[in-house]
Amino acid sequence: MYDVLVLGGGPAGLAAALTLGRARKRVLLCDGGVRRNAAATHLHNFVTRDGTPPLEFRRIAREQLAPYDVTVRDVAVETLEGAPDAFQARMGDGTEAKARRILLATGMIDEMPPIPGFRELWGHAIFQCPYCHGWEVRDQAFGFLPRAPEMLEHGLFLQNWSPDLVAFTQGAFEVPAATRARLESAGVRIEERRIERLVPNADGSALEAVELEGAARIARQVLFAVPVQRQTAIVSSLGLEYDAMGFLKLDDQRRTSRPGIWGAGDATVPMQSATTGAAGGMMAAHFLNHELALVGK
Ligand SMILES: Cc1cc2nc3c(=O)[nH]c(=O)nc-3n(C[C@H](O)[C@H](O)[C@H](O)COP(=O)(O)OP(=O)(O)OC[C@H]3O[C@@H](n4cnc5c(N)ncnc54)[C@H](O)[C@@H]3O)c2cc1C
Repeated sequence: MYDVLVLGGGPAGLAAALTLGRARKRVLLCDGGVRRNAAATHLHNFVTRDGTPPLEFRRIAREQLAPYDVTVRDVAVETLEGAPDAFQARMGDGTEAKARRILLATGMIDEMPPIPGFRELWGHAIFQCPYCHGWEVRDQAFGFLPRAPEMLEHGLFLQNWSPDLVAFTQGAFEVPAATRARLESAGVRIEERRIERLVPNADGSALEAVELEGAARIARQVLFAVPVQRQTAIVSSLGLEYDAMGFLKLDDQRRTSRPGIWGAGDATVPMQSATTGAAGGMMAAHFLNHELALVGK
């Protein structure tokens, strides 16, 4: 019987496992599935690890778990049943494990919009977070893809990284007159035609242009977009409560709505980064460990 089963070996799960291992808990961390930054070659804006390849980040984190009673397995948890002190997990390879408590750090799944070329350029020329990748592409020709009127003002924020900005609304919504005037006076162009496809360079590694309906092309090197996200299958299977944005609803001690199950990382918040993920993992682990101490062995 493990004290804690951590689902997910990203920044949130790894930080949680480190905290729990150092608190002398017997931990099983299972990692299998899609990690959010799989398409990115480097992780940025994590203090002491700025510019580290994501897999190197994970390798170091796992290496630093070695002194503790933490078992790391590269396997997905497929089913999870039970209650506090008697959770039972079945893995993708058919093995099983029992644990007293569960910590969900499974991240979110980004749904790629149905724009030809988007998936291929995601993480290379299309980014979600300018704090993560804006510096590397500063002053290039930016586009961004607002999905709703309130996302238009993102253009003003992106001007921290480039003055050359086009908002591609694809005619998905009416642009409010006041917002249009504000953006245009700040130098942000608004393009409302539908995007036909994204045109990559010869070797497919970079963006050259955004092709619109009618074959017009607007030269762009970088796009920023916030894809719709969904929870992983295992989280969706647990009957948990979500907030209005679809993130796991947590109480002030990072507990989900189901007794014995805690949450951390991207699955729980719209402000998503390796740093916030690791911070959430540490906090959830702290509160979980605190509860185990109160209830005793
Ligand atoms: C393209 C891209 C680039 C990014 N670049 C940066 C950056 O430079 N800097 C930065 O701070 N942030 C960056 N981010 C954001 C950052 O990657 C995430 O915020 C962070 O990884 C969240 O950590 P997490 O642990 O919550 O989730 P994740 O890192 O996504 O980890 C979740 C893990 O859970 C596993 N999992 C899922 N289901 C199961 C299951 N059933 N059983 C077991 N394991 C499971 C997955 O395989 C995955 O490894 C980037 C995001 C994207 C999309």
